[in-house]
Amino acid sequence: MPHALLLTGSEGIGKGRFALAMAARLLCEAPLSSGDACGECPSCRWFASGNHPDFRHVIPEADVDSEGAFPEGERKKSGSQQILINQIRALEDFVFVGGHRSGARVLVVEPADAMNQPAQNAILKILEEPPSSVYFILISTHWRRLLPTIRSRCRKLPLPRPSSSEAQAWLRTRDETAIKLLPLLGNAPLLAHAASESGRGSVYLGVLASLADPGRDPLALAARWQTQLQPKSEGGLPVQAFVETVQKWVFNLALFKLAGRTRLGSETDALCRLAGHASAGGLLRCYNELMKARSLASHPLNPQLFFEDIAERYLRALASERT
Ligand SMILES: [Zn+2]
Repeated sequence: MPHALLLTGSEGIGKGRFALAMAARLLCEAPLSSGDACGECPSCRWFASGNHPDFRHVIPEADVDSEGAFPEGERKKSGSQQILINQIRALEDFVFVGGHRSGARVLVVEPADAMNQPAQNAILKILEEPPSSVYFILISTHWRRLLPTIRSRCRKLPLPRPSSSEAQAWLRTRDETAIKLLPLLGNAPLLAHAASESGRGSVYLGVLASLADPGRDPLALAARWQTQLQPKSEGGLPVQAFVETVQKWVFNLALFKLAGRTRLGSETDALCRLAGHASAGGLLRCYNELMKARSLASHPLNPQLFFEDIAERYLRALASERT
């Protein structure tokens, strides 16, 4: 086990849970032969209760309130979204003054790319000469935002996305409705679970239904979307996520048109029906237009016009074979 590990991979695939399981194992006093923590020793019990003296979980201030319960991708919006230098400086005693128990000390920094520049410089100093019993586990989706000097001191461990059957199997016992969201959310089971828990799942499915059966009138379609999305504060969908959903849908239509297959298995009938009147060129054009719309999505000047524009482009692409 290297002393500094950088876990990378997409959002919502379980990097955080993996890191915590690894931390529990490093701290466990009687690890199982399977490689897991025993779950029963005093150390494991401390860890489970969230106050192990030899463990630090460094997260942005904004997430502290919901720590333990927050799924990846679900961030609370109070306090700083960054990990700040005073949070890193506070670790110096933990790292350089001996541990409470004889064994290892473990730090998880999640997400490591939330460290601002001063915080990154501060952790670099600690990483330069860590005591031998201290383990750093840095978690990052956007790991290129980390200083090269930090990256070079860590062993990088890229975690793969689960296959769709693995993701479905994991959700089957926990959250059946989230399974339908998997293809929209890059097959990331925790993202799908979080979306369905927050009520956004039904909004996603509503948007999918309107894409599958859009009618002919762009104004009516746009109005439907505006009602579906609701304010974000009430469990609605951010406009950007909406545009991404439309984009994924159009991508799958183009894929179906060109290659006769799709990644949205449950929607094959609708895709097949819609692809009939569309041309691949028209769909790809629409996909590119949506890409531009995405960059405006966080602050559309006029939401109504924004949705009408997307509806118009989408319906045009669907009818592009005739033009
Ligand atoms: Zn144990």
